[in-house]
Amino acid sequence: MYKPGASYKYMHNLRDRLTEVHDRVQKAARAAGRDPRDVRVLAVSKTQPAGAIRELYEAGQRAFGESYVREALEKQEHLRSLAIEWHFIGPLQSNKTRDIAANFDWVHSLEREKIAVRLNDQRPAALPALNVCIQLNLDAEAAKQGVDRAGMLPLARRILDLPRLRLRGLMAIPARRDDYAGQLAAFTAVREALEALRVSCPGTELDTLSMGMSGDLEAAVAADSTWVRVGTDLFGPRAAKGATV
Ligand SMILES: *Cc1c(COP(=O)(O)O)cnc(C)c1O
Repeated sequence: MYKPGASYKYMHNLRDRLTEVHDRVQKAARAAGRDPRDVRVLAVSKTQPAGAIRELYEAGQRAFGESYVREALEKQEHLRSLAIEWHFIGPLQSNKTRDIAANFDWVHSLEREKIAVRLNDQRPAALPALNVCIQLNLDAEAAKQGVDRAGMLPLARRILDLPRLRLRGLMAIPARRDDYAGQLAAFTAVREALEALRVSCPGTELDTLSMGMSGDLEAAVAADSTWVRVGTDLFGPRAAKGATV
């Protein structure tokens, strides 16, 4: 079946897709009266091969996000010569914290004190403190990751006591909504949660809102996102989980 939109996109190479995503971010930032340079694009490369990461890197992309530790380490091995900033955005398990602490620059998906303590203890001394965001679950869906509003402040206080972690802000994946107004309302609630956290923790560096993906990055930018995490609109549709190099 002929789908003009899909085939048009498919013909684009990764460099063109990156330009398109940057154009969308810039347009959304300007419309919101923001400096487009305050919004960074995290290329979500989970399930994508190392060759695709290299191609985007050659187009100027530096920050890549991965969700599965073993897959990420395998690709990092292939890409060691590149100055990539690696972000972990997936579910965190205790038995993977040592690898994450040693091989990533950021963790967006922190939601448990126990994991925070392990990452702090396992962060190698030769590396700077690990940048972390607390994953906030505002929709309170049972199956979703993240802490609720009540759990946010206690976890933040605990992280702020851990010298090898650098608390930067909040990450959220709101339930999927197809209308812009609904998306904007969800992202605005995340921004308000960060503002409340800043009031409760004065003097801290809470400068990060990691929110917005391929389908809703415009609304996220309008609500002050500083990292949009984009997979599908950069790399195309994902195959099954676990594709590697
Ligand atoms: C997969 C993933 C994304 C990217 O989603 P797309 O809709 O493909 O842009 C963003 N954030 C997280 C946490 C993800 O797991």
